[in-house]
Order: sequence, then structure tokens, then C-alpha cells
Amino acid sequence: MKRCRFCGKTAEVSLRYANMRLCRDHFIEYIEKRVLKTIEQYKMIRPNERVVAAVSGGKDSVSLLHILAKLREKLRFDLVPLHIDLGISVDDFSKRALEAFRENCKELDIDGIVISLKDEYGFTIDNVASRSVRRRLRRPPCSVCGTIKRYLFNKAGVELNADRVATGHNLTDEAIFLLQNLIDMNLDALLRYDPVLPSVPDVGLISKIKPLFQIYEFELELYAKFRDLKIVSGACPYRAGSTLSEMKKILDELENLRPGVSIVVVRNFLKKLKPALESKYGEQIKREVPLRRCSICNMATPLDICAFCKIRDVVLSEMRGNAAKDVSRAHQ
Ligand code: SF4
Ligand code: ZN
Ligand code: ZN
Repeated sequence: MKRCRFCGKTAEVSLRYANMRLCRDHFIEYIEKRVLKTIEQYKMIRPNERVVAAVSGGKDSVSLLHILAKLREKLRFDLVPLHIDLGISVDDFSKRALEAFRENCKELDIDGIVISLKDEYGFTIDNVASRSVRRRLRRPPCSVCGTIKRYLFNKAGVELNADRVATGHNLTDEAIFLLQNLIDMNLDALLRYDPVLPSVPDVGLISKIKPLFQIYEFELELYAKFRDLKIVSGACPYRAGSTLSEMKKILDELENLRPGVSIVVVRNFLKKLKPALESKYGEQIKREVPLRRCSICNMATPLDICAFCKIRDVVLSEMRGNAAKDVSRAHQ
């Protein structure tokens, strides 16, 4: 029988990339220590900072919330959990995600903040996914939703006077992102990639951090399971599928052949390739997109009107158009 490396109890996890077997308790401790090391190594959080944790209700962000809650005394920071109610009604997805968020905040005895897309901005992701909006935006709902969430996290961070916004991106997400952009040779995206994005106070941009970027997705699944965390069940109905899952399959196969390849991809990119790309193209990219404030909402954007305000305008005008059609049909 396999034994835990640290205590000799029966091992429940085998980490091939680290050639290590661990029991439940030592696995939990190992993950938390690695997140602490990541935060310290990349100087993600400084003492007395206010950190907003973006919590969707899934395993990654709920694990992030619990790990940050454990670390906040040692690292002396203020933690503010934030959830965005996206108004996804299929399978009551958003309702269940909100419940998971509230239960986790209650368990940790921390006040969480909820922003409702419908109440504050008049639309939902269901509206974004409608056929007429899709046709006009020419982007899948999941990609539009990503833009909306990034905007709202940043805006909430500004309004809450925060220093950082922490998200639950894991190592698997990051390796897939880098491999995909390397295949496409998307220099712009590669140059912008960083687990710690600095703030740009002049234009209202908050620093973004990814404390889980060195933790595999399967490790977070196990962490959430072993700690019995309350997470929303099932995948989001609008989740973008094929390319990502294809890349995930390829990465899984690579991991089978060479355990730890995801870590090597992300670390080597940050250590070797990014500095080389920066020295060649960094200045050029910076000059191309100076940030300013959106003329409608005053948040950071490289253009006159930010992506969020443009999306909102399209969605609301389609909703008004559809409502007008419904009224005229009712009068016919
Ligand atoms: Fe939004 Fe896509 Fe995430 Fe669903 S899977 S919540 S649509 S970003
Ligand atoms: Zn042990
Ligand atoms: Zn705007």
C-alpha cells in the first residue's frame, strides 16, 4: 500500500509531476503552502492591502477564497469576496452559484459583495446569448461574458478602494492559454500575459493577481473535495467548448508522457520567452495602446468607448427592439 511521504498514513493522492504521494491532510497543507509561496515569490500581495477575491462559485474560485481566508492573517491583508450575479437562468445556474457564494462567505464569517448584472446594468448573460445579440456582437456569449466580468471586477475593485483583484485561474488554464497563443503566434496576448498585472491608477485600473496559477486543475478539484467546499454543481450552460477542450485533451496527453509539462510551459514562458519578446516588441506594443478613460463610464480603455459600454449598448438596444416587436404583435 502506498504511504504519505510526510506521515506514513495511507496516501490518497499521487502527484506524478512531483513524484510524491500524500494523505488528505498533507495534500491540503501542500496546496496551501504552494499558494503562499506563489504569492510571496511573485509579490502578489503586500501587508495592509485590500484584496478583492472574484468568486464565481466554481471549484477554483471557492478554493481561492478559502485559501486566501487562511492566509490573510499571516500576510496581513484585508479580504473582500465578490460575486457577480450574471442572471443565467438555464438550470438556475446563477441562482445556485449565488447560493454557493453566500454559503462560503457564511462559513468563513466574511461579508461578501454581490453585483447583479440585471439590477445594476439592466441585462443578463441570457440576453447576451440571445440570437439577435449574438448576430450583432459576432462573438460567442462566453467570450462576451469574460469581457463583462473583467470589467465588473475592475470597477468593483476601484469602488471598494482595493489594491488587487484576485481570480481563480489555475495552471491548466494558463498552460492552455499560452499554448494556444503560441500556436497562433499572438504576440500581443503573449506580451500581456502575466500572473501579476500592475495597477494603472491614472486610468482606474486595479492590479490583477492569479494566486493559483501554479496549481493544476485536478489539484483544485481534489482540494475542494477533501475540504468539502460548497461549489455550484454542473458546468455553465454557455461555456465555450471545442477549442479549449481539444487543447485540454492535448495537454492531458502531454502530461501523461511528461508529468509536469504545464509547469514547465508556464515557468519557462515567464522566465525565458517573455523577457525576450518584451525586449524586442514591448515598447512598440505599449506605444500602440495607451490607456485612457471611457467617455461613457470613465473606466480604463484603449478606445474612446470601452468594450463593456459597447456591449451594453448593443444588448439594451436589442432588448428594446424585441420588446417593441412584442408590443406591436400584441396590438395586431
Ligand atoms: Fe460566463 Fe463563459 Fe464563465 Fe459561463 S463559462 S460564466 S458564459 S465566462
Ligand atoms: Zn500525511
Ligand atoms: Zn465604458
